Amino acid sequence: MTKILVIEDEANIRELITYNLVSEGYELVTAENGEDGLSLAKAENPDLILLDLMLPVLDGYEVIRALRKAGNPVPVIMLTAKNDEVDKVLGLEFGADDYMTKPFGVRELKARIRAVLRRCENGGAMMSERSEAEEIPETKNANPPTDVLVIDDLRIDIPGHEVTVAGKLVALTLKEFELLKTLAENRGIVLTRDRLLDRIWGYEYAGETRTVDVHVRYLRRKLGGDEDRYIHTIRGVGYKMKQ
Ligand code: CA
Repeated sequence: MTKILVIEDEANIRELITYNLVSEGYELVTAENGEDGLSLAKAENPDLILLDLMLPVLDGYEVIRALRKAGNPVPVIMLTAKNDEVDKVLGLEFGADDYMTKPFGVRELKARIRAVLRRCENGGAMMSERSEAEEIPETKNANPPTDVLVIDDLRIDIPGHEVTVAGKLVALTLKEFELLKTLAENRGIVLTRDRLLDRIWGYEYAGETRTVDVHVRYLRRKLGGDEDRYIHTIRGVGYKMKQ
């Protein structure tokens, strides 16, 4: 059974989510503040977390930061009351997999949960990538998928979901890993922001290409060295992994 942890201080929203997701067949665990949410995330080992942004004790940012810092890759959908791009982008920078702005419909919530769980299956983008490769033949990978991709001292172990630079482990969120993997599999080929967005985040993000830039920036920071050490910016077009 898929277990979902809801961290939300507003009782009516928490109950609405719980009622609808339980009737959908999910197992639900709930917390009313960030601190309890964080301990439940560790104790209950949920498959997905719905995380409110404005929370007592610890806010949503602090919760996700603590999770990622501890190396917990659990997919997180942020719930934000503010229709503010800065908040969304910040949430994504901290390692959220998706976000929803309140008020949201129950059907949309269910669809987002299914999409995030699907994308995170098998610990990465392997499933969605295969199905997309069949649907969109022109995007076939330039470098056929192998288990381990090596670019200079960067090593991407796809089945192990592990990235190292000069032998040192780099902790990436699921999205960062998918982004790096997609770029690496298409080494030397420019991928547009739209293409990356569509491939990694899905159709519901259409047009929000800034999401790609934010993740590329974060990824570069984690990989270290010069900004274009591995990932080159092709002005006005997109990004390209070093040949
Ligand atoms: Ca709240």
